[in-house]
Amino acid sequence: MQLHNLKDDSQKVSFVEAVKTGLGRNQGVFFPELLAPLADVDSLLDMDFVTRSSKILSHLIGDELPADTIALMVQNAFNFPVKLVAVEDNIYCLELFHGPTLAFKDFGGRFMAECLAQFSQGEKTTILTATSGDTGAAVAHAFYNKPNIDVVILYPKGKISLAQQKLFTTLGNNIHCYAVDGSFDDCQAMVKNAFLDSEVKSRLGLNSANSINISRLVAQVCYYFEAIAQLPKEQRAKAHISVPSGNFGNVCAAMIGAVIGLPVAKLSATTNQNDTVPRFMLDKNWAPNTTIESLSNAMDVSKPNNWPRVQTMLDNKWFSYDDFYSTSVDESDTRAVMKKIHQTGYVAEPHTAIAFHGLKANLATDFVGVFLATAHPAKFKESVEEILNIELEMPKPLADALAKPCLAEGIANDYDILREILLAKLG
Ligand SMILES: *Cc1c(COP(=O)(O)O)cnc(C)c1O
Repeated sequence: MQLHNLKDDSQKVSFVEAVKTGLGRNQGVFFPELLAPLADVDSLLDMDFVTRSSKILSHLIGDELPADTIALMVQNAFNFPVKLVAVEDNIYCLELFHGPTLAFKDFGGRFMAECLAQFSQGEKTTILTATSGDTGAAVAHAFYNKPNIDVVILYPKGKISLAQQKLFTTLGNNIHCYAVDGSFDDCQAMVKNAFLDSEVKSRLGLNSANSINISRLVAQVCYYFEAIAQLPKEQRAKAHISVPSGNFGNVCAAMIGAVIGLPVAKLSATTNQNDTVPRFMLDKNWAPNTTIESLSNAMDVSKPNNWPRVQTMLDNKWFSYDDFYSTSVDESDTRAVMKKIHQTGYVAEPHTAIAFHGLKANLATDFVGVFLATAHPAKFKESVEEILNIELEMPKPLADALAKPCLAEGIANDYDILREILLAKLG
């Protein structure tokens, strides 16, 4: 796979280089120069999830990695199921939360860990990542106790749920966590600063693990094929998929899927009140506001890092602007829609509810809707129990984590302080 930097076309890298460097020059993200169509999508759809995913990833990555190596990496990374559940007539929920940290971030996090373990054998590596809630846990679990790899996670203090936080801050060992006095965007800015700091970058062997890393995006393409494979055959051609969006990595993966042949007619990327993209779609003016806190905190992002990739595909007409919807949902509608879904007998946490809302707002008759459940409701226990007036059972991984002490340290929203700590501790 040949990629180029979307902010500096002269920077071309291989897949391996893109995974190892994360972000390109001028903080540009890497994007494939070419997304070739898959040969026989129908027979791919007949395969099981792991076999099909290996083929899709081999197709995307190309001959940089042998197919049997990719097959092994996929087997290790995707060791939990994807479930498609009928919620209403013509509306299905794609449950992506059956992995070890109960959110879809396990797919990308675990495949990226496989890639880095593969590419950096023996070399000292530090994974530095900002999390708005769920990436941290997925990455921490994927790298926990891996030799020669340290993980540093920054998260906005007090702005993620207790369950989200406990799933990564309780691990210790090679997992180092910092609660930043600021927003997720502030955490992302500190990470970007570290990558621009050549001394820190080389002494620590820095690598990023947030959704800008291309290995996470290609991994996420795979479950969209699984969604279509699980739909009744006669409905496949009319699928409208709705993705709750924050950093726009997940919907970017869906669109990459569409470009290489995934039968998906329409895509919705629905945000909470951090609605930079929905406003951009109306007037083509990029005007991020200050980040607002919401019930769907993993989507509290006002400068989505993956948008340039999505926009590239739209501007290139690889996916039509006419088939791409991006609207926003406010807090009171999020609560209302959680209650509405609950009346059908299904329990959705706030992010999932936003995807459902976006689907209902844009779904035309004749189409079949699939909305993504990006996290297990128990991960948002406080808000789900309060809004739906129910009591949730805690799945075992969560109950275990909740019982352990938080090992994170507080830190000011100041890159120089982070720099000193990192160099002292890991340099
Ligand atoms: C990360 C996350 C999202 C947003 O995904 P993006 O790829 O950042 O758009 C949505 N829901 C949950 C539960 C998440 O953890």
